[in-house]
Amino acid sequence: MREYGVDPCPQCGGTKIGRGKQSGYGTISPYGRLGFGTALIHLICTDCGWILGSYVENPGSFRKTVVK
Ligand SMILES: [Zn+2]
Repeated sequence: MREYGVDPCPQCGGTKIGRGKQSGYGTISPYGRLGFGTALIHLICTDCGWILGSYVENPGSFRKTVVK
């Protein structure tokens, strides 16, 4: 069964994917706009620890930095 719409872990085939939140000094800020950091969420295989993907919690704050 898939969780969060992600594929099974490419390393071990595990399907138990957890989410980790990277905040504090690990936030990502829109380019040129320090101080508006948003937390980074990681999708993590709970069997082997492989990170399957990451995304920011507030993607809308990056719209003014679009380059393409
Ligand atoms: Zn794994």
